[in-house]
Amino acid sequence: MKQNIESFLDLVRERNGHEPEFLQAVEEVAETVIPYIVKHDIYYGKNILLRMVEPERLISFRVSWVDDSGEIQVNRGYRVQMNSAIGPYKGGLRFHPTVNASILKFLAFEQVFKNSLTTLPMGGGKGGSDFDPKGKSDNEIMRFCHAFMSELFRYIGPNTDVPAGDIGVGTREIGFLFGMYKKLKNEFTGVLTGKGLTWGGSLIRPEATGYGNVYFAQKMLETKNDTIKGKSVVISGSGNVAQYAAEKVLQLGGKVLTLSDSSGYIFDEDGIDADKLAFVMDLKNVKRGRISEYLESYPNAKFIKGKTPWGEKCDVALPCATQNELQEEDANTLLSNGCICVSEGANMPSTKEAIAAFHKAKILFAPGKASNAGGVATSGLEMTQNSLRFKWSREEVDNKLKDIMSDIHKSCSEYGTDDDGYVDYVKGANIAGFVKVADAMLAQGIV
Ligand code: NDP
Repeated sequence: MKQNIESFLDLVRERNGHEPEFLQAVEEVAETVIPYIVKHDIYYGKNILLRMVEPERLISFRVSWVDDSGEIQVNRGYRVQMNSAIGPYKGGLRFHPTVNASILKFLAFEQVFKNSLTTLPMGGGKGGSDFDPKGKSDNEIMRFCHAFMSELFRYIGPNTDVPAGDIGVGTREIGFLFGMYKKLKNEFTGVLTGKGLTWGGSLIRPEATGYGNVYFAQKMLETKNDTIKGKSVVISGSGNVAQYAAEKVLQLGGKVLTLSDSSGYIFDEDGIDADKLAFVMDLKNVKRGRISEYLESYPNAKFIKGKTPWGEKCDVALPCATQNELQEEDANTLLSNGCICVSEGANMPSTKEAIAAFHKAKILFAPGKASNAGGVATSGLEMTQNSLRFKWSREEVDNKLKDIMSDIHKSCSEYGTDDDGYVDYVKGANIAGFVKVADAMLAQGIV
């Protein structure tokens, strides 16, 4: 088996040697899916995984725009259309200076499995730009988004590829992107998700990734006859996913101790309650400030500069910022401090070594492709509402989200339960996600 995995990975490394994040995502999948392929004749010998690691299409384009001082700026835009076997490409757009082909290929690859897990008909894609929205005026953001869409519009459409938000792309950016798409195509369609409520957006979409992550953590805890209620929770990030994960933890009776951004984290021993969270939402979403400013209103809290929050004692950890933010050493600290559950809100926030430590300790661990799938699932629900020209209530969407997270949990348990009863959610998510896409690819032939 090791031989099968290694020879596959050698080939992928040879072709993508300069793309570490993409290789990391492929290795994790290969190690769990290849043993399954080898045991199942319908998949064996068909090079299905080799086909799945090659994007169907990778588009890279120039984005030129003019900043407020009249200077011409040039950024690089991308869209990775990874796999369309089970539906139109679907996945977010990330605007962050670290964006490159490796990051977007890893995200698009993960997205294929994640979208398959949601049970909705969505293929996988991802895109974005190395544009840094931090410190830019609203007008600069608008000009950049318009320039970006003036090229991307050629490759997307409601039945082809439906982007959404991700790091650096929220409702404001989706608005500017949608405006330019609509102008260029002269049609009002559900080509983007995460839209505003008055122009085609779905209720609960902003909350969905964070809420879904906590619903998933709750499902995992239920397997141990436990619940979020009364648990102390450490959260990283203070953007969309972190904010709504915190909100749901509070609603379910947990205590939120930390939030962070790329400059450090805040620790509030008294707990970040609903009022304090409302302050953070205003600070981050409206004032676009830094998390350290929390201390100006809540001086009892601490700000720990340049660090991630994993050294704080907690029962549950929710990494909701970015990839590889939780390393082996952090995992060991969390474990020695008694953490019993880690549910990823971000994509690939834990390194391979950190995941191995969680598995070795046999704690509850959910990979992002399962636990953060609530966002794209609700995007799928937004697409359905757009097609039907109809709007579901907040309660209806939230119930559907809960059901989807519960179904994902069930699929992961079905494919991921080890002989000793421990649920390896990584294995479960990878195999369950793989089976549906692989079956569709086999049915459609070699295309
Ligand atoms: P936001 O842009 O709203 O927030 C990102 C947060 O993460 C900010 O607090 C940001 O801090 C922090 N962050 C970003 N990069 C780094 C870094 N290199 N080091 C430390 N902190 C960092 O993004 P989202 O909340 O939407 O996304 C967070 C994660 O969740 C990402 O991994 C994304 O792919 C994933 N995700 C998002 C979904 C969604 O629906 N939005 C769906 C599924 C997954 P700062 O402001 O300082 O940059």
